[in-house]
Amino acid sequence: MFEVKGFDPHNDYVMIKVERAVDGDNIRARRCFVCGDQPTTGVGEHVFPKWLQTRFGLFDERLTLINGTFIPYRSLTVPCCAECNTGFLSRIETEVQEIVERGSVETSADRLSVARWMAKILVGILVKETALLLDRKDPTLGNIVTADFISELVHCQLLLQSARKPARFGALHGTFPFTLYWYRIDGLENGFDLSTDIVGQSIAMRVGKLGLAFVNDGGLQMIHGEKGPYGLEGVTVLPHQFGELAARVHTKASLRDATHFYLNSETPTHLTIEQQDVRPFTSTTLAGGEMQVFQPWDSWKFSVRAAQVTRLEESVFMDTITGREMTTLTNLL
Ligand SMILES: [Zn+2]
Repeated sequence: MFEVKGFDPHNDYVMIKVERAVDGDNIRARRCFVCGDQPTTGVGEHVFPKWLQTRFGLFDERLTLINGTFIPYRSLTVPCCAECNTGFLSRIETEVQEIVERGSVETSADRLSVARWMAKILVGILVKETALLLDRKDPTLGNIVTADFISELVHCQLLLQSARKPARFGALHGTFPFTLYWYRIDGLENGFDLSTDIVGQSIAMRVGKLGLAFVNDGGLQMIHGEKGPYGLEGVTVLPHQFGELAARVHTKASLRDATHFYLNSETPTHLTIEQQDVRPFTSTTLAGGEMQVFQPWDSWKFSVRAAQVTRLEESVFMDTITGREMTTLTNLL
């Protein structure tokens, strides 16, 4: 939901680029994934940048797509124009590469760079999936993701593209209108993991000594604690413990029952993204009288997800006899 103030099509407005980028026709026509212009010939933009593929040895590793098939990270490219590719996208990569090497998210500026980068990867994966058949043996089933689904990602795109010019953010639950938690990882220097939840618009990545979990939810998860599950943000965890934290964030993201209303505006020199209020999807009233913004926590859903992400048994996260949820984080609680 956007109210565009001072709309002037003669200026190079970020909000217009966002609109073009999420336009189904432009996506079907394989236009630039962030501005809708004619892409340059060549491979386009690597969703997982080359520095990351080199750093973590991802060239021959494969990502699992929504339909359960695999794609090598090196083949994950989306149409992009030279201006976007070498401009704001390249600046984000430079900032994030430094943060990944350092292994910590220190400042608000770091937080914003990481969120934009995660937003780019989330959008990039989905745009790629609009170009891939759901079932290669049966093209009539169409593509994995429909081009029109990308319009769901308008806020994600705006967050990413806010890197094009100085931006101001007004958010209800924290400094910025997104959820981002980071962790120090006690694991291999070149360890890498990725998990996503498309419905919840969440993505988590372990990049060496740094674990990141991002949700395009306007920061709603922070209502239940600014430092995430068990308040552990910034703490040192083992790789499988990070996997559990990621599964908790994904599960929560998939249970979101509200969105936000924004009042955004733009001038030639500034972009303002202003969150106004929370808009529940359903009108479920909780015992305390307030509106439900997350569906009730689901231990079963969580344990299935946690087993998937960590590749541990479901019984690690759920006692199947008592139905009691369990955690691998006890040494930190
Ligand atoms: Zn472009």
